[in-house]
Parts: sequence; structure tokens; C-alpha cells
Amino acid sequence: MNTVLNRTVPVARPSFGAAEEQAVLEVLRSGWVSQGPRVAEFERRFAQFVGAREAVAVSSCTTALHLALIAAGVKPGDEVLCPSLSFIATANAIVYAGAKPVFVDIDPITFNIDAQRIEEAITPRTTAILVVHQIGLPCALREISEIACRKNLIVVEDAACAIGSEYEGKRIGSPYSAMACFSFHPRKILTTAEGGMITTADSEVAARLRRLRQHAMNVSDLARHSATKVALETYEEVGYNYRMTDLQAAIGIVQLDKLPQMLERRRDLAARYSERLSKILWLVVPSETKGTRHNFQSYMVRLRPDSPISRDELMQHLLDRGVSSRRGIMAIHREAPYRAERWDERLPNTNLVTDHSVVLPLFYEITEEEQDYVMDCVEEIAREK
Ligand SMILES: *Cc1c(COP(=O)(O)O)cnc(C)c1O
Repeated sequence: MNTVLNRTVPVARPSFGAAEEQAVLEVLRSGWVSQGPRVAEFERRFAQFVGAREAVAVSSCTTALHLALIAAGVKPGDEVLCPSLSFIATANAIVYAGAKPVFVDIDPITFNIDAQRIEEAITPRTTAILVVHQIGLPCALREISEIACRKNLIVVEDAACAIGSEYEGKRIGSPYSAMACFSFHPRKILTTAEGGMITTADSEVAARLRRLRQHAMNVSDLARHSATKVALETYEEVGYNYRMTDLQAAIGIVQLDKLPQMLERRRDLAARYSERLSKILWLVVPSETKGTRHNFQSYMVRLRPDSPISRDELMQHLLDRGVSSRRGIMAIHREAPYRAERWDERLPNTNLVTDHSVVLPLFYEITEEEQDYVMDCVEEIAREK
């Protein structure tokens, strides 16, 4: 708690209102709570928003990535390139598909996979590149898809954080890759509590994804329900139960209506942060690269290596004043399941960013008073040092 605001400032908080409550109630009263008409509507609306031909809803972004890699043809024994500077689900999904994640270092300014380092990581076993638009800033999709095309690799986008972000004037989710996967976890901009979405321009891929999420059944519940002739289902491969529920989709539909204003608010808040914090010499504030539009899923600052204070000192200083922050993005190669290979020496920029970055509070309903207080606290420690 802090004495100025008399409350603590969380790092993120989802925004739900009466419309979400009403939407959930309607689904409960309809009697159809699992994957059904609301999921189908959410998919249509989502595809329209991002400008993709197809959108397939699933239970999370992690399960979206798993299915996308299967649909991309990734098989046991394959290698898939990805950044280590990401949430661990990025690499776990590759392991679920039986393949091996091969970590490529990042660019320390964009926090995204360094396109210059991709070719040296390719081996005869490499079949795909799983790119991440880290905390909402699109990676170099054009350069990466050009390399992939030349080397006959498939690109899948971990767009968990990239809803509403733009690349060369188009929203992420339109066809720069085979598939893009989004997250609706409460830490993300649009949330359905848990949930994910895969977008693709390929209708056959979408049809396979729709089967795979539902035990690989060839007839969906919705199709069976509306059929006038008896339809007996078959199961042509091993599938999964990765369905989204209609309860979640109903929340998602309402959140999609609010999304443009949520995105605009985040950009305004990020600009307010950068205006003041860029004056602190030991901090690097986030920037957009040419042709990209950030959605500021998170507002992450990086402390320069010669900073007078450590990342942990800054976080403690904030916490003592009632402000929650989070360490920046993790480095997957440091966690137990991925530690066996000596990645550390090959990923200097990943190590630099993971050790020196902090996520500051940013969410739709944060007040300017709260945000000013966060900045006062950062400036206070800057003056002391
Ligand atoms: C949040 C996140 C995920 C996982 O999303 P879930 O919906 O929680 O499974 C995967 N990758 C990245 C980059 C994320 O930020």
C-alpha cells in the first residue's frame, strides 16, 4: 500500500463489465455451454478483426501452438527455431510435437528473434521457425519469411501478445506465415479467462485444426446438432480435447467490441510513460521499428548495463511503495527442461535483456494518477543514485 494513493498498483488487471456478465448469463441459460454457436461467432468476428480468412478457437495459446506445429507438419526428431527470450510455452509446444527447440538469439532493442542469426541455426533437421512478437512488437516477418521460403521452412507465429499489433499496415494474423496463434489469458489485452485462437489463410488447414481440437472427430457437435440426417462420426487420427467453451467465447465477443478502444488507451499510456522515463539516462524505453505498430501488451523498460541500480533494487523500491512490477521476459534456456545444452554462451543478448528488464504496470483501467505515481517512484530512485 502507498500513502499517496492509499492502495497498491497491480502490474495488470483484466477489464470486465456488465456486458461480459450478461453475455455469460445468456450462455448459461441457453443450456449450451461447451464449444458451440458462440465459439463459431467469436471465430468469425476474430478473423474479421485481424483480416484472416480463418480463425480456429482453442483452449489456450499453448494448445494453439501445439496444434499449429502439428498442422505445419512438424514431426518427432525435427528441429524448430525459436527465441529463448519468451514465455516457456513457446518451447514446450515444440516439445509436445516431439521436436527440439533450437534457440536463436534476439535483437536487444526489439526483444525479437534476430533475423541475421537464423540461417546459421538451420540444420538438415530444421522444419519450422516459431517466431514470437514479444510483448506485442512484431518481429521482422518479411525478412524471416523470405529466409523460410528460400530454405523450405514453415513459419508459425506465436502471436500470444500481438492482438491488434500491426506489421506493414496490416494486423498480425493475416498471411505472412502459415498460422498465427493468440492468447486470451488474463495477462493479455483481450481475455476470455483462458483461451486461444489460430488464424490461417488456408481453409484445409483450418478444417484439420478444427478436427484436431475435438479428438479428431470428423463431425463437430454443432454440425451434428443441426443435422437433419443421422451423422455418425469417425476419428481418422489421434486428436486432442483443446476446445474453447461458449462461456469463454461469449466474453471474447464482448471484449472484441471494446478492443479498438483498449488498444488506443494502451498506446496513450505507453506514450505517457516514455515521455517521462526516456529522460532517465540508465533506462531504455521501448521503441517501434519501421513499419510496425506496437500494441503495448506490456510496457517493458531495460536498465543499461552500467546502470547505478540493479533491476532487483528497482523492483524492490517500487514494491516498498506499493507498485507491483515484474521481471522482464524469461529466458527459456535457463530453465531445467532446457538447460542440458550449453545455450548460455550462444545467447548473449537474451541474457542481457532477461537480466536487466522490468515490466511496469499498464492496463486498461489504470488511472493517470496511478501511472504518475509509478513514474514518481522511478524518478525518486533515479534522483537518489
Ligand atoms: C502468454 C503467452 C503464451 C501462453 O499463452 P496461454 O494462453 O496462457 O497458453 C505463449 N507465448 C507467449 C509469448 C506468451 O506471452
